[in-house]
Amino acid sequence: MKVVVLVGGVGGARFLVGLRSLLGAPEHEITAVVNTGDDVWMHGLRICPDLDSCMYTLGGGIDVERGWGRSGETWAVKEELAAYEAEPTWFGLGDRDIATHLVRTRMLRAGYPLSAVTEALCHRWQPGVRLLPMSDDRVETHVVVADGDGDGTKAIHFQEWWVKHRAGLPAKSFASVGAETATPAPGVVDAVLEADAVLIAPSNPVVSVNTILGVPGVRDALRKTEAGVVGLSPIVGGKPLRGMADACLAAIGVETSAEAVGRYYGSRKTTEKGVLDGWLVHTGDRSDVPGVAVRAVPLLMSDVDATAAMARAALELAGASIG
Ligand code: GDP
Ligand code: CA
Repeated sequence: MKVVVLVGGVGGARFLVGLRSLLGAPEHEITAVVNTGDDVWMHGLRICPDLDSCMYTLGGGIDVERGWGRSGETWAVKEELAAYEAEPTWFGLGDRDIATHLVRTRMLRAGYPLSAVTEALCHRWQPGVRLLPMSDDRVETHVVVADGDGDGTKAIHFQEWWVKHRAGLPAKSFASVGAETATPAPGVVDAVLEADAVLIAPSNPVVSVNTILGVPGVRDALRKTEAGVVGLSPIVGGKPLRGMADACLAAIGVETSAEAVGRYYGSRKTTEKGVLDGWLVHTGDRSDVPGVAVRAVPLLMSDVDATAAMARAALELAGASIG
C-alpha cells in the first residue's frame, strides 16, 4: 500500500511514527509531504523546523520532552552568540542541531535542491518514511501584525511571531511569501496521484496544512487523486493539543473546533476547493461537515499503539484498510 501524508512538525511527526508502526512491512510505502513554510535563515544557516522534527522523531534523535531539536543537546554556540549579542537571541539553536544546519546549508549553497539535501540527511537517520519538502522553492509564512498604536501593520516571519512572541501578538493575517511562483518538490504530485490513501495529519491547519495546500498543484492533486483523502483533527474538545493552533485559527476567523477545521478543509465532492472525503474527530466531538464522511475515534497520540490505531481508522475511512 502507498500512503501519502501531509504533515507539519510535532503533530505530523508523531502521527508518522504511528503510521510507520502500522505499515511496518516492506511492501508498504509512506511518503510524507512536509511543510517548509516555517523555514528560516538564522546566523547564515538554513533551518527547516518541520522537516527536522519529522527526521529526528522518526530517526530516534528527537528530544522527546521538548518536542523539537536533538536529544542530548548542549547550547555552547547559543551562549557564545548571546555573549556577542548576536541577534536573534530568542531562537534555540543547539550544538548538535547546528551540525544538521551546517550540512544542509553547505549543500544548498553548492546548488543541491532542498529535496536532495533532505534525502542526504536522511541517509543518517533512516526515518523509514520518504520525507519530501512540499517545495524546493523558498516559501515562507509571514504574519501580519499591528505596527505601533495606529492602524499601521507590518509583516514578521512566522518564527518571530511563534517563538519570540509565543503567538501572543494578535495576527491579522498570514502570507505565504513565494507561494505563487513555487512548484511542488519532485515526487510530491506523483505520490499523491499514485497513492492508495492520502491522509492529512493532525497538524496545524493554518500554518502547516494550508501552507502545503497553497503550493500551486498540491491542492489540485488532492482533488484529482483516485485515493480516498482523510484528515485527522488536531483539535480535541475544542482545544489544540501541544501548540498554539487556536491563535492561528482565530486570525483567519475559523473557530477552534473539530467541525470548523473540517469545514475549513472542505469536501472534495461538494465544494470547489475542498480536499476531504473523510474526517476523523476525537470520540465525543461532534462534527457535521457537508459532503464528508465523519467518524469519531480516540485521537490522542499518547503512545505508538494509540497513534497506530488512529492511522488504521484513517486508512479504513479512506477505503484502504489493511486487514
Ligand atoms: P508544528 O509544526 O510543530 O506546530 O506541528 P504540526 O503542525 O504538525 O502539529 C501541531 C498540531 O498537532 C497542534 O495543532 C496540535 O493540536 C496537534 N496535536 C499534537 N498532539 C496531538 C494529539 O495527540 N492528537 C491530536 N489529535 N492532535 C495533536
Ligand atoms: Ca511547524
